[in-house]
Amino acid sequence: MPLPHIAIVGRPNVGKSSLFNRLAGSRVSIVDPTPGVTRDRVSRMIVVPPPAELEDAGPRFAELVDTGGFGVYVAEGGRYDDAGRDLSELTDDIEHQIENATRDADLVLFVVDAQAGPTALDEKIAGMLRKRGRTDQIMVIANKVDGESWEAHALEFAAMGLGDVVMTSAKAGYRRREFMEQ
Ligand code: GDP
Repeated sequence: MPLPHIAIVGRPNVGKSSLFNRLAGSRVSIVDPTPGVTRDRVSRMIVVPPPAELEDAGPRFAELVDTGGFGVYVAEGGRYDDAGRDLSELTDDIEHQIENATRDADLVLFVVDAQAGPTALDEKIAGMLRKRGRTDQIMVIANKVDGESWEAHALEFAAMGLGDVVMTSAKAGYRRREFMEQ
């Protein structure tokens, strides 16, 4: 049976690689504080613990794919990021990446940054995901909820209309158990 396929999408610098590394259990993806750091799509098998009520069920496995930051482009040896570029210029590239990421995924983790709050690029990605339908297969992950004080900020993302917002902190591990159970 093929492994369930989980894709991580989101604009640069929201913590996709950090989340990937935490889920994959080792540092395999590049984490960089600079928005738009180029990285290849990385894929890894992960163990998903069973929910508390199914403790006897044993571990389950999934393939996790980090697609890299949207807004990062490599063309003819050059590197471009979304800093200073018009959003409309990015649309085709982003759309292409969303399509790649979501085509085969059973679950899409749409990662956003609770500390930064919703940005125009988040809205753009949310719009594209809504347009693709299958919104029940999309989970909005508000990352960087390092403690309780960030929870209210995370809830702002509920307005994107992609369902409940699941909070976590890839760095601090806050709400990690709830996140894994979800
Ligand atoms: P990506 O571009 O979406 O893959 O983001 P990265 O994983 O490279 O992270 C971007 C920056 O956010 C790095 O400086 C990380 O250390 C930081 N970061 C990632 N997760 C968290 C988190 O949960 N809390 C905080 N405070 N910072 C985080």
